[in-house]
Amino acid sequence: MPIPRVASQDHSDDEAEPAGAFRVALGNLVRREADDESFAAAERIWSRVRQMFPQSRIEKISELFVWNETLGGGSVIRNWDLRGWQLNVDTNLRGEELDYLLLHEFGHVLTLDLAEMTLLVDPSACATVAVDISCANVGSVVDRFTTRFWSVEMAETATEPDGAEALYEADPTRWISRYSATSPVEDIAETWTAFVLRERPVGASVADEKIRFFWVHPDMRSLRAEIRIRSGLDPFVG
Ligand SMILES: [Zn+2]
Repeated sequence: MPIPRVASQDHSDDEAEPAGAFRVALGNLVRREADDESFAAAERIWSRVRQMFPQSRIEKISELFVWNETLGGGSVIRNWDLRGWQLNVDTNLRGEELDYLLLHEFGHVLTLDLAEMTLLVDPSACATVAVDISCANVGSVVDRFTTRFWSVEMAETATEPDGAEALYEADPTRWISRYSATSPVEDIAETWTAFVLRERPVGASVADEKIRFFWVHPDMRSLRAEIRIRSGLDPFVG
């Protein structure tokens, strides 16, 4: 049976409007609708995105929406044409909070790339992990991570009211954060973020094993080092 989950944090209020909406063209922001204050905030956020991540890895982010106190963080949403991503960021985030959010959302873009997924009209036909109308390929990062660290029962519990909280409280050492217990896809994004920011774990907890899941891949290790250098962090910690 497929493991149900959501791709990203939905906006709590569907009626809410972003403070600014931008298209990304050739790596630069193009204003669609925004006042000067929102434009300045978007420029600050986008310049940090470009500083932290290699250009080749953020080419699929085709829109940036900035929000004032309506988002509680951020999200990524696949565009209607499925080719790109809309990045949503709260303008109140700064410094380490902003970096953490950007790393988390980048983790979604990295692991949910369509090269790793197959489009499906019927998500219930997905035997791995369904994300919107796509299904993680067998052997993809999402599939391997979920197979190793999640049971069908855990994924079902996570979708119930207070289910994620119950999963976390049952054994906090399994989890990177409380939020990581909300779904396999959020767990992967939180684990990716911990992989970049934390030292290489030496413990035997499940959370440590999750972080080591990324350490075994040389391409992930080099991407981690590059992002750490670009973010102003020592790349050799680990
Ligand atoms: Zn997320």
